[in-house]
Amino acid sequence: MLVYVLIVGVIFKVVQLPLAYYSSYHVEHRFGLSRQTLSNWIKDELKGLAVSVPLVVAAIEVIYQLLRTHPASWWIYASLAFITFVIAVTNLAPVLLLPLFFNFKPVENEDLRKRVDRLARRIDIPLCGIFEWSLGDKTRKANAAVVGWGNTRRIIVSDTLLQHFSGEEIEVIMAHELCHHVKNHIWQGIALQSVLTVIAFYAAHRLLPPLSAAWGFGGLADIANFPLFALLVTILSLLVLPGVNYLSRRLERTADLHALDITGDALAFVSSMEKLADLNLANKSPNKIIEFIFYSHPSVEDRIKLAADRVGQNV
Ligand SMILES: [Zn+2]
Repeated sequence: MLVYVLIVGVIFKVVQLPLAYYSSYHVEHRFGLSRQTLSNWIKDELKGLAVSVPLVVAAIEVIYQLLRTHPASWWIYASLAFITFVIAVTNLAPVLLLPLFFNFKPVENEDLRKRVDRLARRIDIPLCGIFEWSLGDKTRKANAAVVGWGNTRRIIVSDTLLQHFSGEEIEVIMAHELCHHVKNHIWQGIALQSVLTVIAFYAAHRLLPPLSAAWGFGGLADIANFPLFALLVTILSLLVLPGVNYLSRRLERTADLHALDITGDALAFVSSMEKLADLNLANKSPNKIIEFIFYSHPSVEDRIKLAADRVGQNV
């Protein structure tokens, strides 16, 4: 079984590798975004595989074990196992996974620390750690995010952002991230992921037997139908992508409004958005359909319009 899963995995990877090379290496270099050498890029790909292959193999092992032992209720146990795994990985990622690819150190920028302390005091929220994220070795792009939960919750802000943005612009971005932190958007994401997981496993439970039979496989627990299983899950996740991105854009809008309200600095908000778009070469006003399907954040154009509307309301 292991060999079969690995062979299918290798076929998937061989199909996906040229795409990964093109999108995350070739295009990024063509536009002067990436600073990575090819050998570094390959090293990152290998590290990714070293982490993901054992996990995927173990997951498949567990799922097919459940299919054999609990043919009627496997999807409930599989969902519970997967959700537990997602929760655990979300907690561990900032201390175990991300450091495999990047260096992190507590932010030393005194001005930033003072600004964030002031924001947290003003709205009376518990603060979390803020870490500088060494993105600059790999790319010109700038980014910031909230990661982890509980003891590993932190805001990570890229060194590229700290280098290129003014104190006011960084403060607005921190205010945006603080909203993700206090409104627990990470847990909302996990909740959404959990619902989708249950739906996906249930759909597999209902759809796999007839599909398996049609392809001549020996029933639900036949490992031969694993590519069918993987294909089904891939199709389902593509189908829900617009919905997931729609919800993500709503959370981002909430965080933008929060940032505008607590800093009261619409000018810094607008200039930070412009700067992010310029550094990351983002399309400021993408096609609306493309935006609806693929964008996890509102377009820069929409975010700037939001700031203008907010200022208009507060005058
Ligand atoms: Zn955000």
